[in-house]
Amino acid sequence: MEASPCPLEVEFSNQIAALLAPPSSKSIQEYYDGLLHETKSHFIRVEFNENGKGVFSNRDFKEEHLVLKDQMLVAAQHSSNKVDCFVCSRCFCYIGSVEVQIGRKLYLESLGLTTMDCDHQSEDQSFLQENDDETGSSAHKNNSFSMDVLQLLMDGNLFLPYSKQFTLPTIVACPGGCEEEHYCSKLCADIDWDTVHSLLCTGKTSDSFRQAALVKFTEHANRTNDIFILAAKVISFTILRYRRLKRSYLEGSKQPILNEAEGQSNLCILSEAWKPVAMGFKRRWWDCIALPDDIDSCQEASFRMQIRDLAFTSLQLLKEAIFDVECAPCILQESTAW
Ligand SMILES: [Zn+2]
Ligand SMILES: [Zn+2]
Repeated sequence: MEASPCPLEVEFSNQIAALLAPPSSKSIQEYYDGLLHETKSHFIRVEFNENGKGVFSNRDFKEEHLVLKDQMLVAAQHSSNKVDCFVCSRCFCYIGSVEVQIGRKLYLESLGLTTMDCDHQSEDQSFLQENDDETGSSAHKNNSFSMDVLQLLMDGNLFLPYSKQFTLPTIVACPGGCEEEHYCSKLCADIDWDTVHSLLCTGKTSDSFRQAALVKFTEHANRTNDIFILAAKVISFTILRYRRLKRSYLEGSKQPILNEAEGQSNLCILSEAWKPVAMGFKRRWWDCIALPDDIDSCQEASFRMQIRDLAFTSLQLLKEAIFDVECAPCILQESTAW
């Protein structure tokens, strides 16, 4: 395999190897015991062996009984879905109102934005587009709604029959003031801000250099593969968790950290911050991505290198925006897959 194009990967090779090494059985056990304790999931146990992990209930349960409500670490709405559904950026429930959902979708379609435009490769989406064309129902082509009506729907000044029976949470804006993220509640907005979004926000709280760098990163991801958006969230999640852990470590520590021990101590904190991802990490994205049908198996090695180089380009763009030298080894895990 060719050498990595990334100089950081050479500089931090030992630290990266430590972060990507499979966690020990003891560490896995401790992590899940802690998680179950934290979430008060007393009737659940996690068992694991070399083949994988399994979640078991310790007691009988009936149909529709909630056994476990798991937390998402990070998630992203597919760009092709954003025209159709207006959802909370953290918990992904519908927000606004039925009128806002319908008005916004028709409005965006009237601007020429369709799910097809947002997704360059998906066969499913081209199927949708073809169907639209056949039936002549594409709002883009035959938009018979006036802008005034759509505006009334989006502003909440026009009501559709029975929509009050399907109320949705009021829209909460991003605390950083960007237009990309919206929430179902202040709670979701605050948690997303603290755990992921504050480093990726392009709103007024972010300086103009970072805003421009993030816009370039997002445009590249939308043009190539939006897994990079999810990867950026993983990195942001890890950096923010690292900073919180380090703050509490320094506050709790009576001894000042000596210079020579600082690097080691930072790596320990970074490993702890990375742990939730490490528990699910299997292989790097370019090593496990499925080979497309039109790529012959003899071209597999060069295909995987192309994918790795694409990830490297994305990483360069992201680094411009959110690089943190203490978390450098983790930013190289941008393309993790689990
Ligand atoms: Zn929410
Ligand atoms: Zn924001």
